[in-house]
Amino acid sequence: MKKILILLLMFSTLYSARVVETNWKHGETFSQYLQRNNIPSTLLDSISKNDKTLLLEIQSGDNFFELKNDNELLQALIPIGEEMQIQIIKIHATGEYKFDIIPTIFIESEYKVALPITSSPSIDINREINYASLANHFSELFKNRPEINFKRLKKGDTMAFFYTQRTRLGKPINEPNITSAMLETGGKKHFVFVNKEGEKFSDTGKIIRYKAGTQKVAVYDKMRIPVNSPRITSGFTYKRFHPVLHRYRPHLGVDFGARRGTPILAAGDGVVTFAGWEGGYGKVVKISHGGGYVSLYAHQSQMRVRSGQRVSKGQVIGYVGNTGRSTGPHLHFGLYINGRAVNPLAHINMSTRKFKDVDIFKTKIVQIKGIKKYKNRLVALSKETPKLHVWDSEQKNSILYKEIDTL
Ligand SMILES: [Zn+2]
Repeated sequence: MKKILILLLMFSTLYSARVVETNWKHGETFSQYLQRNNIPSTLLDSISKNDKTLLLEIQSGDNFFELKNDNELLQALIPIGEEMQIQIIKIHATGEYKFDIIPTIFIESEYKVALPITSSPSIDINREINYASLANHFSELFKNRPEINFKRLKKGDTMAFFYTQRTRLGKPINEPNITSAMLETGGKKHFVFVNKEGEKFSDTGKIIRYKAGTQKVAVYDKMRIPVNSPRITSGFTYKRFHPVLHRYRPHLGVDFGARRGTPILAAGDGVVTFAGWEGGYGKVVKISHGGGYVSLYAHQSQMRVRSGQRVSKGQVIGYVGNTGRSTGPHLHFGLYINGRAVNPLAHINMSTRKFKDVDIFKTKIVQIKGIKKYKNRLVALSKETPKLHVWDSEQKNSILYKEIDTL
């Protein structure tokens, strides 16, 4: 992890290079990207079959970083999933480019905020810190607190809180996490604390959920495993350590071993958004299930559906095969939520909307002890005027250089 930043630093001094934050151009293929950056196509040839499949995980519009000297690309770090990234790097000694897949580097820091309330906490946070997710998280933490009237906040009321934020080269990744917060209104202090498991506590106790009845609502019905008598030969992982290559290689789907010709069944009701040949996936079908869910069925010998066709759960959409980059007949099954690969086995319980009776939960506070220390810390903070960290693009760049310099 440190090595990469040091590498970045070495390059910055050598070339007086600049780190550039950019987006993956819509519809651009990996080989077009290499071409645009004058990288020889021999780099593409050097990438293993398995790694080539991962190139398909790059999404149009994804944020990534480039280290550039004028127009020459010295390094690019392109995320695939949340924990891994593609690294393209120019080796200074030989002038050749190298491809690798490495864990994502991030820094987690604590930030503090103490602010007078002038309109509402959420508006004040947005104006002073320029971070909507943080404002939302603060409001959400004080939700369901009948003793606080948000419409009655007035001059002299204050808020103070600590939060943690993961950053990658100065850019925030994942959501901010408020760990403790205080809202002082009308001379009364109200507290919320959040533990590592994400559970909320007030100053007097733990806020717990309890069942308070049932209600008819739209829910997401279960999907199904896309083959009968499933046999998993390879599971989903962002970080799979390859025993032979001795490197991390993500596998963003689940492989089911099955004989060629075994029927592949739609995991849920939906609409076919793609049925055709796609690089390493060979003959592949993608089905959109609504709610941002898309399932993917790769390496088919024969497809039974066309793009645009409506399918129902359990319907045969094709047959197991060995097309694309595959070492033997199997079904590679992928599941995506809003374009992000997720573990199909963990999320297969969601999708296809139906109406059902579901339990209604309410919250109540259960007495606990031992948060005096955090309370005092917040009270002390509310009397400070800390330097606020403002999340704007200018700031992002300056942090970026600071972080590279300090490592
Ligand atoms: Zn696979």
